Amino acid sequence: MCGIIGYVGNKNAIPILIEGLKKLEYRGYDSAGIAYIKNQKIITKKKKGKIKNLETSLEDDNSNIGIGHTRWATHGKVNVTNCHPHTVGDITLVHNGIIENYEKLKNELLNKGYNFKSDTDSEVAAAYIDYLYKQDKDILKVLNSCKNYFKGSYALGIILHDKDDSLYALRKDSPLIIGISKDGNFIASDMPAILKYTNSYLLLDNDEVAVLTKNNVLVYNNLKPITKKTLTFDYNEEESLKDEYEHYMLKEINEQPKVVKEFITKYIDNKQIDKLPNLKKYNKIDIVACGSAYHAGLIGKYLIEEFGNIEVNVEIASEYRYKKLFIDNKTLVIAISQSGETADTLACVRIAKEYGVDTLGIVNVVASSIAREVDNVIYINAGCEIAVATTKAYLLQVLTLATLAYNLAHDDKQNDFSKLPIILSKLVKQNYYDLAKKIAKQEHIFFIGRNIDYAIALEASLKLKEISYIHSETYAAGELKHGSISLIDKGRIVIAIVTKKSIADKTISNIKEVKARGAYVVLVTLKSLNITSDCYDEIIVIDDICELLVPLITIIPLQILAYEVAKIRGCDIDKPRNLAKSVTVE
Ligand code: GLU
Repeated sequence: MCGIIGYVGNKNAIPILIEGLKKLEYRGYDSAGIAYIKNQKIITKKKKGKIKNLETSLEDDNSNIGIGHTRWATHGKVNVTNCHPHTVGDITLVHNGIIENYEKLKNELLNKGYNFKSDTDSEVAAAYIDYLYKQDKDILKVLNSCKNYFKGSYALGIILHDKDDSLYALRKDSPLIIGISKDGNFIASDMPAILKYTNSYLLLDNDEVAVLTKNNVLVYNNLKPITKKTLTFDYNEEESLKDEYEHYMLKEINEQPKVVKEFITKYIDNKQIDKLPNLKKYNKIDIVACGSAYHAGLIGKYLIEEFGNIEVNVEIASEYRYKKLFIDNKTLVIAISQSGETADTLACVRIAKEYGVDTLGIVNVVASSIAREVDNVIYINAGCEIAVATTKAYLLQVLTLATLAYNLAHDDKQNDFSKLPIILSKLVKQNYYDLAKKIAKQEHIFFIGRNIDYAIALEASLKLKEISYIHSETYAAGELKHGSISLIDKGRIVIAIVTKKSIADKTISNIKEVKARGAYVVLVTLKSLNITSDCYDEIIVIDDICELLVPLITIIPLQILAYEVAKIRGCDIDKPRNLAKSVTVE
């Protein structure tokens, strides 16, 4: 959550900070601000809302050093006062994360005469650093000692008015990378923010402190200079452009056939499937994830249990990290996260490692924290995903799990992989505009399904509510009559997913129950199931594919439908309210 950018170099920092913030905006967009140094003075500009508000308020100015922030508020309202950067005394900083013990630190500082303007934990961090700096004028020593005082997670970018040649950074459990170029050096929450200038970067590890000047980057561990490996980021800026699409989400929906084909070429056609970890040696798998990645995990559960014959538990990461675990050396913990920085999922990886259990990450962002900390990682290679509501990364997470299940089963009957991109290409071109118009008028809708169809329904429902703000609930179809059927009334839209042949009749009975109570049923099903027209009011029919791959195609019409509904309702599709893409706080 939140985007941080910083620059020191020969160029004007201000446009670099603004461009960087625009690329980071998907990480948080409550408010945005920049601070730069001019004639030994800090100049700060802040605005509520999107980066463009900040951009249009700026007058021409010039500075060779500055920091910027796009906020996803955790402490304190969304307003200009709480917006970063925060200046206290000599210290100006941007912060990503949560200082958990900020109240204690704040009380300490209040007793020492500090006053606070904002409600943020971040201003307390700035004040505490200032307080330490007033006692010991060695900024490096002060920043190195922060780990002794701050609890929680933080990535900090810091400037000091009288040090206009140096940009400081430190982090613990929140992402921050250091970009290197011949015209200056950068800090950023992720690489797309600085790809226009460089693809060379260093990874800053927990508790390390970096000092950036225009020609140099020094990284310290416990005050000792260390040598970090320079890495190259290997996808280009083009990928993060919207091209001719109206929204990133639509672009990413349309990219799905291509990224799926690339995955299949690598693992199935080029037989790299043997390089995937073999799950046969485990008695049990725990999958941990959040949001859509959790739904991908649920699909993985059904596929791995059915085709691979291993028991799989899927747990919401924020729950798993605080519950009693039943894991041993025959358990594998799989962590799924697009960003690889999801705080709760990362915490689960660390807990699993404390138990000495094997961990496998299914991650998109290369060299992210989860990717670095797990024993084994499978990169889904989705490329840049900018829309906050995931589509292509989710699909590749499901494909990865389906491939692991296939690897366990070695069932050639399930090998319709080559058909998958073809069916996907056809599906992404469809539109459901008339249905979308009906749904757009609703305030509540329902999804039902059984087994794997239930897992697909959960994701379809999340997509709709994330971007269209329509309240949508998903029920396991058989569970409805145990209470929630009381919510079904005349004209209520129920989207029923029926793809699993062996239990299709059971879901059809549940559909009839809601129809008898006036529901307007939209059926999503496969051609071969031939469901009779008395079971639905509208139907979306999908071409057949082997059972293993059905969940990969069934979700597509529902992604498109969610997109169309949100568009009709005039929602901010790529940046839905209150959300941020990379959830780096717990
Ligand atoms: N906790 C800080 C705040 O609420 C930083 C939030 C962020 O990561 O954007 O301002």
